[in-house]
Amino acid sequence: MPNQVYVLDSSGIIGGFFSKKLPNFTTSQVIMEIKDLKSKIFLQSALEDGHITITEPTKEDLNHVEEVITGSGDILRLSDVDKQVIALALTLQKDDMSPTVVTDDYSIQNVLKIMKIPFKSVLTRGIEDVVGWIKFCKGCKKIYSPDYSLTECEICGSPISRKRKKK
Ligand SMILES: [Zn+2]
Repeated sequence: MPNQVYVLDSSGIIGGFFSKKLPNFTTSQVIMEIKDLKSKIFLQSALEDGHITITEPTKEDLNHVEEVITGSGDILRLSDVDKQVIALALTLQKDDMSPTVVTDDYSIQNVLKIMKIPFKSVLTRGIEDVVGWIKFCKGCKKIYSPDYSLTECEICGSPISRKRKKK
């Protein structure tokens, strides 16, 4: 049985999600997408505690993802960072790991489906053994950092709700 790991895209990190039981991986480009201070602080402590490891996909796996995306017609909706996240899952598989990608991005999920790579959504299903909690907009479903201080969504003005995850 291969080692279970998680691959986080930026929605996972902004949502404050990582597993304390299983290793979590992400790429340096995902890290660079994290702009807001609260998420950066969260990320920094997760990196220092060794819960999240930054690693990069191989060129070969990136090329493979390009081919699949081109074939699926999803090419326009995926950023370079998105492709890196998917390719990283392939790279980890070759290292005898069994990655589950944590993402709320439907285009990424569609490509993962095609490639038969497991994924979990931060908002709709969640991960059973993650720690922490998230805030999210009841209207537009935008994810906020757990430390977001306002009670209304900055995008649509709907109430912000909070969801604590089970251990
Ligand atoms: Zn909203």
